[in-house]
Formats: sequence, structure tokens, C-alpha cells
Amino acid sequence: MIYQGQAITVEVSDQIARLTFDLQGDSVNKLNNLTMKELEEAIAAIKADSGIQGLLIRSAKDVFIVGADITEFEEKFGGQTEQNVADAVYDINVRHFNALEDLPIPTVTAINGLALGGGLELCLATDMRVMADNTKIGFPEVNLGIIPGYGGTVRSTRLIGGDNAVEWVSGGKQYRADKALEVGMVDAVVAPDKLEAAAEDLLRRAIDGEFDIHAIRKVKTGPVQLDDTELLMAYTTGKAMVSQESPKGMIAPITAVKTMEKHAKLGRDEALKIEAENLAKLATGEVAHNLIKIFLGDQELMKKSKKAAGKVDPVERAAVLGAGIMGGGIAYQSANTGTPIMMKDIAQESLDSGMEEAGKLLSKQVDRGRLSAQQMAHTLSMITPTLSYEGIDSAQVIVEAVVENEKVKKSVLSEVEGLVDKNTVIASNTSTIRITELATALKRPEQFCGMHFFNPVHKMPLVEVIRGEKSGDDAVRRTVGYALSMGKKPVVVNDCPGFLVNRILFAYFAGYIQLIREGADFVAVDKAAEKFGWPMGPAYLCDVVGIDTCVHAGEVMSEGFPERMKQEYKTAMQIMVEHERYGQKNGKGFYAYETDKRGNPKKVYDESVRDLLAPHTDAPKEFSDEEIVDRIMTPLCMESLRCLEDNIVESANDLDMALVYGVGFPPFRGGAIRYIENMGLDKFCETADKYAHLGPLYEPTDKLRELAKSGGSFFD
Ligand code: NAD
Repeated sequence: MIYQGQAITVEVSDQIARLTFDLQGDSVNKLNNLTMKELEEAIAAIKADSGIQGLLIRSAKDVFIVGADITEFEEKFGGQTEQNVADAVYDINVRHFNALEDLPIPTVTAINGLALGGGLELCLATDMRVMADNTKIGFPEVNLGIIPGYGGTVRSTRLIGGDNAVEWVSGGKQYRADKALEVGMVDAVVAPDKLEAAAEDLLRRAIDGEFDIHAIRKVKTGPVQLDDTELLMAYTTGKAMVSQESPKGMIAPITAVKTMEKHAKLGRDEALKIEAENLAKLATGEVAHNLIKIFLGDQELMKKSKKAAGKVDPVERAAVLGAGIMGGGIAYQSANTGTPIMMKDIAQESLDSGMEEAGKLLSKQVDRGRLSAQQMAHTLSMITPTLSYEGIDSAQVIVEAVVENEKVKKSVLSEVEGLVDKNTVIASNTSTIRITELATALKRPEQFCGMHFFNPVHKMPLVEVIRGEKSGDDAVRRTVGYALSMGKKPVVVNDCPGFLVNRILFAYFAGYIQLIREGADFVAVDKAAEKFGWPMGPAYLCDVVGIDTCVHAGEVMSEGFPERMKQEYKTAMQIMVEHERYGQKNGKGFYAYETDKRGNPKKVYDESVRDLLAPHTDAPKEFSDEEIVDRIMTPLCMESLRCLEDNIVESANDLDMALVYGVGFPPFRGGAIRYIENMGLDKFCETADKYAHLGPLYEPTDKLRELAKSGGSFFD
């Protein structure tokens, strides 16, 4: 052993040094401060031993290296100047990655498991790479609003070509071994049990001179071998493609392409400087800050949920009552994540269409090569469609997803309670009826809570687990556990009209309908909201949700919070419903819907809608994008603060994550609370005061004013 640390060891045998990553006390390897310190020392130890003829790098864990330690980003980037960050990153490049690349001996990496971000950059600093055929590699940095900074953009461009590097770096995806081999990111792919031997064989052949490592290094450290026209072509196409495909508000993907274009004609060290400068620009900006907070917020939420679920036995069998849009989706999601489920309805057609929908979703996975036909049949067999309650007593968790009618729900809930064991948890997927109210129909309200999924169930990550006044800890805990086993992000909330997410969403809708009433054009409002980062503007969102559903939920909100949410005028949504424009579901809402080539609804502008709205609104008026955004975002944020203050949700992080996962709040803005904190609480109060005439939805809470004055934070 020539080096022994807590993350890295180096042994030498038969003149080959084996550098092994095995971060003590952690389940994965990551490039944290400790590992980086040890890497520098380990490389120095190898360099100092003249008897060593080759270096093999490997991992003792299931993963290779999952990347940098994101929990250390705050300390690295927070409060730093761009120049400081650029200098620090460049320095690491020289001391670690260049030092590894420049060792006087051949170097090979054995990639046994995930090699992501800095992990992959480390692999690229070695002469050759052998990869196990069951793992993936990639550059996820852009998903955090940054670009690779340890030579990822530089070495990949030179190794796999400009166009491939654009795809790999700016797409933020993980690639399978066959794809990595095809583009030349790795030199060989083998079965996991042959990896070590294959890597050693390659290394020995390099030592014997079979491969010219100097030629390999020349390619990696020199300028890209393309003439000016070829370069221009590659990067113009790259920029156009990336601009079109990047999610809204994400500047990292296009910065990645520009970085690669800028350093293409330069040698390694100059190119690395440009990479470090552009990384620093992004890393010290607000988008990266927000995305990193979202990443860490997700980890915090999942840790909390796992703790909340405790050590309960996994649900072996579940049941869902209702096989409609939601019941069918819940059955699919449960089966697809391994929990058999009985799906009970009163109508055979609903059962048939529920099964058909599940079949369609599974077929898509088969087409994409993610599932075999046999696995699909197995998953489908885990859903038992039925018109009778027979066998319901074997379910440990029952999710009620029948029609949104209090009387029907109460009767179904009490009926099913009478058929099951006292320990069975019953949860309702209601979107508007208070859990405390539904519980009055039950003899064991402590075994009952809300389990609010979002549509479409397989796509939307959030599940609100609602604690009614009488819900017991066991019911909440087991519902959280079931949601986790379904691959969902559960957020536990207290009961109130609209629960957490819809209560906040309807404050936003209230801002929207008020704008329309004052003569704003709904298309202009949608455009401004989408420019802000929402996946769809409020009019389009109403169409997707169903305008009749929105009107019904709106009534519940105005009853629940009359002082803020009661409208004394006919709203744009009510007008649409009066004219039987229910949204996508019947092909006409604020927009009209045609079917595209793939059979999906495509929105088109419908001139007649303006005429329908005109008699109930002020004369058409143009609002600036800024005013539109302020008038819809202020009530959303203010209601978020009220939910926090009313203890509907436990923390600002839970709230922000729920909005990102439940309604697609733009992640690059960090969530509602993060958004106002970035703006500055005093500035947010100023904006709210400017619109005070619009009513109490815009009124700052006392706590907000207090924190704005004291410079405090809702995250403390
Ligand atoms: P849906 O109308 O598509 O399905 C309801 C199903 O319940 C129908 O198949 C109906 O036959 C069945 N049903 C009625 N009475 C029944 C009974 N006694 N026993 C068993 N089945 C019965 O409705 P949906 O959109 O799936 O909504 C279901 C629930 O989910 C509602 O409470 C709704 O508020 C809630 N929800 C809906 C959405 C959404 O976007 N659709 C989102 C979140 C929550």
C-alpha cells in the first residue's frame, strides 16, 4: 500500500498501481473535499514511485463516482465572486485532473457503476476507459444550472467530437454503455465480472506499447481537429437544437455549447480556463443557486418522508375504489412499482378503460425497450379489476377515488370500512372535500387520511398526505410509506379547503380571473406566465384540469376563505362553463383543441372566446408582462405564506417542493418562498402594497412584514 486515506487507497503489485475509491462511512463515492485532498496526495505518491509502470483506477462500491458533493456547493460558490470561483476551479483542474492526465505512465479506468459529472471527468483524464455493460455515465451538471468544470466540456469535445459532446453535456442525460462505446466515450464494454481483468489487460497492452498513449493525450489536450467551416456548422446547429430543447429558464445548456465553441481551437490549459470562467458565471448566479436548493430540498424531503414512514412493513396488497382517470392511474402506478392492487368500480366500462390505459402506458415502456412483453403481462396481472368487494379484506391500504361527491364518498367509505380489519388504512383521493368532514362517516377516523394524487398520476411526483383532525399517526405513516413505495414524493399537510397545493393554486387563479375582468387578454396572460417559467399559463392550465372542475374547486375555496377568495362577479371560468366550454375534455375551453398527428390534443386560438368574455369584462387593455406576473404571483406567494403560518405545511422547503412537484412551479425559480426571498421580503411587500386595491389576497401578513423589517428568513 503506497497510499491509504479514508476515501482512496493505492496498492502496487506487478508494477501496476491500483487506485481504489471507497469513501468510508458513505454508500457512494463522491468528489467531496476529503476525496479531492486525497486524490492529489495519491497522484503525488504514484508519481514519486518510479517502479510503477501503469495506473488502474477503480471503485470498491457499486457506483464508480456519482459526482461532486452537492452539499458542499454552498460553501464553494455562496458569496464568492465569479473570479474567485473560476480561479479555484482552474486550480483544481491543474492539481488533480491535469496531474492525473500528465502522469508519465499509462492510465486506465474501470467503470463498474455510475460515473457522473466529476466522476466521468475523472475517467476522461485517464488514457482509456473500460465500462461494465450494466451501468451508465453522463454529465448531469446542467440540471443543477451549471456546466462541467473539471475538464468535461474540454475533454469530451476532443474525444467524441463537437456534436456528440454538445448532446452529452447540454442534455444532462445518462447514457448506457453501448451508446458510450459507440461515440467513443469509452474504449471497451464488458460484462461486470470481466471488468477488472479487461481493464488490466488494456493497461498491460498500453504499457507494452501496443497503444500510443502520447497520441491519445495529444488529441485530448490539443485543439479540436476541425476547420472553421466545420466548427461553425457544428456549433450553429448545436445552439439551435439546444435552444429549442432546453427547459424554460435554463441557461446552462446553451452556455455549455458556447463554452465548447469558444475553446474548440485552443489547447487544454487555455480551454480549461474558459470552461472554469463560464462555470463560475453560472455557479454564482441565481438559477444555479435555486436549482441546487431544489436538489438539496428534494433530499431533505425524501429523508423526512422516509423517517415519517418509519419501519412499517411494506404494503403487500392495496386496493383502489374507482377506476376512472385517477383510480386507473393509481392502479397502474401501484402495480408498476411492485404492489399488487385490486381496482373496484361499479361500472364494467370504467374497469375496461382503466385496464386499457394501464396497458397503453406499459406498451410505451415495451416500445422504448424498458420492459419485456413478459414483464408487461406480469405487471398487468398485478391489477385485479373487479365489480365486487370480495377480497378487499386482504388490502392493507385502500385508496378511495370515486366521483367527487360527498354523499357518494361517505357512503362508499363507510361501506368499505365495514368490510375490513381495524388496522386497514383507508385514504381518500378527494381534491376538494375536507378529510375531517369525510371522516365523520367512519367508525375508525383514526385509520383514515387523505392521499391526494395529481393528474396524470404516473407523471406527477407529488402526493399530498392529508392529516384530518382525527387521523392517527399510524394511518399517516403507512400512507406516506405506500406513496414512497410508488416512487412518489409525499408531503404531509394539515386539512383545510384545497389542502396545500390547490389552496395556493386558486389564489393564483384568482389573480388571473381578476386580470381578465379588467380587460387583459388571456393569451397575453398565458404568454407572460410561460415566459416567467410556468409549463403552461393559467388559461391553458384551466383547460387541462377541466374548467368545470376549476369552477367547482373555486366555489369550495370561496366558501372556505370568503374574505379573500370570494368573487362578487361572474368569472371567466364561470362564463366558459356556461357556454359548455369545459377545456380539453370536450375540445373547447379558453382555447379550442384539435388532434395532432400523434393523437394528442393540440391547442389552437379560438376567436369566439374573446366575444364571450367581452360583455363581462372591462374594455380590452394591455398589461405589461411584469404587471401580469406580479398580479398572479403575488397572491400565490401570499397564500403560500398563509399556509405556512396556519401550519398547513411544516416547512418552507416542504411547501416549495410541493409546488414544484404538484403544479410544475418553475424549478429554476426555486419555489414560491424561495422566489420571494430572492426578490427580498421588503421588495415583495412593496409589490404587494402596490396592488393592495385588488383585495386581501394581496395583503402582506404580519409575519411577512416583521421578517421583512428584521431581515429574517422563512427558511430559518
Ligand atoms: P372519474 O369520474 O374519472 O372516475 C370516477 C370513477 O368512480 C368512475 O369510474 C365511477 O364509475 C366510479 N364510481 C362511482 N361510484 C362508485 C362506487 N360507489 N364504487 C366504486 N366506484 C365508483 O373521476 P376522477 O377524475 O378519476 O376522480 C376521482 C377522484 O379523484 C375524485 O375525488 C377527484 O376529485 C379526485 N381527483 C381528481 C383529479 C383529476 O384531475 N381528475 C386530480 C386529483 C384528485
